[in-house]
Amino acid sequence: MLTRVARLYGTRDLRVETHDSPDPGPGEVRLRMAAGGICGSDLHYYQDGGFGPVRVREPIIAGHEASGIVETVGSGASHLAPGMLVAVNPSQPCGQCRFCDLGQTIHCLSMRFMGSAMRLPHEQGMFRDRLTVPAIQCHPVAKGVTPAEAACSEPLAVCLHAVAQAGDLSGASVLVTGAGPIGLLTVAAARHAGAGRIVVTDLSDAALGRAPAMGADETINVARDPAGLSPYEKDKGLFDVVFECSAAAPALRSVFAVIQPRGTLVQLGVTGDMSFPLNALVSKEIVWRGSQRFDREFALAVDLISRRAIDVRPIITHSLPLASAVEAFEQAGDRSVACKVQLTFDEAG
Ligand code: ZN
Repeated sequence: MLTRVARLYGTRDLRVETHDSPDPGPGEVRLRMAAGGICGSDLHYYQDGGFGPVRVREPIIAGHEASGIVETVGSGASHLAPGMLVAVNPSQPCGQCRFCDLGQTIHCLSMRFMGSAMRLPHEQGMFRDRLTVPAIQCHPVAKGVTPAEAACSEPLAVCLHAVAQAGDLSGASVLVTGAGPIGLLTVAAARHAGAGRIVVTDLSDAALGRAPAMGADETINVARDPAGLSPYEKDKGLFDVVFECSAAAPALRSVFAVIQPRGTLVQLGVTGDMSFPLNALVSKEIVWRGSQRFDREFALAVDLISRRAIDVRPIITHSLPLASAVEAFEQAGDRSVACKVQLTFDEAG
C-alpha cells in the first residue's frame, strides 16, 4: 500500500512524499505509525547535511524514535496483535559478526540502524504513516501510556546505556552538561539509578527550566553566570560523575576543572574534532568513556516508561502532523522554546 513519508534530500530540503509499504511477511508486522521524535542527529541532517564524518549522501527517510499501532500481523509474529501500541527499536544488528558474538551488538559490523546516514545505502527511517518491520523490533507498551511517551523509549535507552557506563551511581554527585532531550533523560536515568546531588548546566533558561521535573537539584545557566560552576572546582573538583551531553567545547573544558580525581566522564554529545585539556585528563586520572546508542536498555526503557518509573512527559514540548514536517524541523531547531518535537502520523494530518 502507498504511505506518506518525510524524505530529506539535502540541507533544508525535506519533502512529504508517497512510498510503498509492503504487506508484512513472516515474522513481520505493519504498523500505523503514531508518534516520532526529532533527534539531534535528524536535525543535523536537516540543518547541516550531517554531523562529523556522517553525511547525507542520498535521500533518506529520517526518524529513529517512534511508536506505532499494530495494524497487520504476519505469520509467526505471535507476541503482537492488531491494536497494540508498540515502541520500535531501530537497531537491526546482524547477529553473526564478531561483535554480535560478543554480545556487543552496538558495535555490529553490519548494523542497520533505521534512519541513519552512517552507512551507504542509508537505512530508511520511521517518519511515515505506515511501516513494515520485523516484529522482534516492536516492544508493546502498557495501556494508558501515550504514543508520545512510547516514542521516547529510544532516547531514554540511549541515556540508560550512558548511565550504565558510569557504574554504581548510588549517592554520587553528578553533573550533566546540556539540558536538551538527551541531557534531561540522562538526569532522569541518573536519578532512577540512585544518584545523589544532580547539577545541570546549559545556555538556555527554557531548557534548564525542565530539569527539576526530571530530577535535577540545581541548574546553572553558564551563559548568564560563567562562574556558576566554580564552587565545584574546590579540592580538585567535587563531581564523581559527569555526563557530557552538549558537545560544546566550553562545556567540555569546564568539566575537567570540576570532576574529581578518578572521576568518570561519560561522553554522549558528539561532534567533529575539538580541543581539551589533556594535562587534566592525565593528572586527575579521569576515566573518559564514550557512549552511543543502546542494546538491551531498549526493553528497560519501555518498561520504565510503561510503569512511569521514569516520566518522560516534561520533555515533550511540540507535536505536529507529518504534513507539517518542515515546520516541525524548524521548531526543533529553536532551543529557546522547543525540547522534544514529535511528528504525528494520523491520516488526517
Ligand atoms: Zn553483527
